[in-house]
Amino acid sequence: MSQTVELKVDLGERSYPIYIGENLIGDTGAYLNKHGFKTGSPILIVTDETIAPYYLDTVVNSLRSAGYTVVTHIVPAGEQTKSLSMLEAIVTTALTGNLDRNSAVIALGGGVIGDLAGFVAATYMRGIRFIQIPTTILAHDSSVGGKVAVNHKLAKNIIGAFHQPDYVLYDVTTLRTLSPREVRSGLAEMVKHGLIWDEAFVDWLEESASKLLNLDLDALKYGIHQGCRIKSVVVAEDERENDLRAILNLGHTIGHALEAVAGYGELLHGEAIAIGMVGASLLAQKLGYSSDIYTRTKALLQKFELPVSLPKHYDVDAIMEAMSHDKKFKEGKMVFVIPTAIGKVEINRNVPAEWVRETVEQLK
Ligand code: NAD
Ligand code: ZN
Repeated sequence: MSQTVELKVDLGERSYPIYIGENLIGDTGAYLNKHGFKTGSPILIVTDETIAPYYLDTVVNSLRSAGYTVVTHIVPAGEQTKSLSMLEAIVTTALTGNLDRNSAVIALGGGVIGDLAGFVAATYMRGIRFIQIPTTILAHDSSVGGKVAVNHKLAKNIIGAFHQPDYVLYDVTTLRTLSPREVRSGLAEMVKHGLIWDEAFVDWLEESASKLLNLDLDALKYGIHQGCRIKSVVVAEDERENDLRAILNLGHTIGHALEAVAGYGELLHGEAIAIGMVGASLLAQKLGYSSDIYTRTKALLQKFELPVSLPKHYDVDAIMEAMSHDKKFKEGKMVFVIPTAIGKVEINRNVPAEWVRETVEQLK
């Protein structure tokens, strides 16, 4: 039996553990028990159509053999599933399945399922308990911090809440069925966590890129543990996003703009922020910080086989326009997370919009 590591997300009364290990989903029932969930109240599992055939039976069987009544709701895979109509459909399942105030919602899936099921848990009967079983690498990011939401057709994540899980059960063996592209995209957020906080972790990422890409389980456990640790330290200091939490947006200003102008499915989130992180390191150079930051950031992302430049057909005006909607523009100046060294960043509120345009052009 390989070792399971436990990381505490320290949020005072709402602190919770993240268990990271192998073959954990078969013990879902035991973990629920350990956390004091009574068998009398039904448990709702929300998952998607891609994940269900691989893992749903294991989770359901584990819960049933521990004596729990289980209700399941399977949604289509993909971002469009994070919607109010899906929320309503899941609430219908919860009501017909007799979920009560002592019930729990289990999110079995990636960030989409975590956000959607978490929002169901935050709002059903004004809030019931919630457990995350992440099945993507990217979800190491979304499983820490308690942000849950659905999208409106005019804006992403605009209808949401803060709702912390009781615990997170991170079974790295489930990551083996991810597509290589989803693997790389999730690793981009892991790289981001290193770049904002911890040079030693960046050193390790440089050495371990091929192990991570090949889904070596020990490397995944360590990388996810470090990524969650860094995110949880940042979130614990600034749960409601005043200042420090903004550093988690490294690469996201340009990245979100790219996602907004890209055709559907053209760029995954991690791919967009990889390009965005290269952009931020180019801006750092313009601001007078060492050019090593750019060289090392780019080389690291290339090791992870992530894109580091813009596809030629992208329109610079459209990207600049998309960034102007991102509330980060003020009188020709923009707010940017800028790397000042490897493992360190600052929030710079005075980046000339002209430099941003030049940077986007340089990325082509
Ligand atoms: P996702 O949940 O859509 O998963 C990506 C794809 O992989 C889906 O098609 C899914 O069906 C498939 N998949 C998931 N696990 C699998 C597995 N083990 N094997 C095979 N296929 C699998 O997306 P994601 O990249 O995990 O997350 C993106 C979402 O997370 C976005 O909606 C984003 O807004 C959200 N997010 C939230 C936070 C937060 O703090 N709440 C942070 C970052 C991202
Ligand atoms: Zn992100």
